[in-house]
Amino acid sequence: MLSNIRIVLVQTYHPGNIGASARAMKTMGLENLVLVTPRCFPDPEASRLAAGAEDVVDNARVVGSLAEAVDDCVQVVGASARLRSLPLPHFDEPADMADALMANATDDPVALVFGRERFGLTNDEIRHCSHQVSIPANPDYGVLNLSQAVQVLAYEVFRAWRQRPDSDFRAPRPSHDRQPTREQLGHFHDHLSRVMQASGFITQPHARTEEQLQALFARARPSRKELSLLRGLLSSVEQGLDDA
Ligand code: SAH
Repeated sequence: MLSNIRIVLVQTYHPGNIGASARAMKTMGLENLVLVTPRCFPDPEASRLAAGAEDVVDNARVVGSLAEAVDDCVQVVGASARLRSLPLPHFDEPADMADALMANATDDPVALVFGRERFGLTNDEIRHCSHQVSIPANPDYGVLNLSQAVQVLAYEVFRAWRQRPDSDFRAPRPSHDRQPTREQLGHFHDHLSRVMQASGFITQPHARTEEQLQALFARARPSRKELSLLRGLLSSVEQGLDDA
């Protein structure tokens, strides 16, 4: 089940932080590391700071964008020290985040996303997340080193895994209960935008309206089944417009 949990580091500047994050992960039973356009990788400094976790570094997957790293995930939690303006569901307590993540990870891949040392995650990257989490810390000095943030959240995930009910032995969840992947949700939002324009509800792409609707559906958390119902509804509206 822990193999469904992916740690994603976005554009890490110091290769040493990649190694230290790999070590933090391995101590907590996590091995699935994805690097989005790291500045300098592979690098001896990454292997040095990994200590006994070089295997996690060696097996890390390097990708060109955050979308590529998380498209197949059903839950993507962005770790951020500051609250952002984007109204995504937010976990104030890492423990609550880990419990939710663990529940989804039983059946599908999920991701925890960490930003750059200098300026964290961009708003566009946060848009690829379904949730945000902050590690409660000193209000006057609350930004942790990247690998230490990985350690704290990886620990919470491991704690949630140890305390799980006997879920290893339960049957897979039926699709009405499973969350759509980020890619499926992205296709739905593209479809919704097309229909909003074709129907004349908006006359050109309107980022603010789309953002508000994305936030609404992020809170509503439609299941795969509900999402395909909505896709069917949009298709029939499109059909009606074509016929008119
Ligand atoms: N200067 C950046 C912070 C970079 S720290 C900023 O202001 O956003 C590097 C990464 O570590 C962050 O992007 C975040 O993913 C994680 N991190 C650091 N402190 C955190 C905290 N208190 N809560 C959650 N994540 C944190």
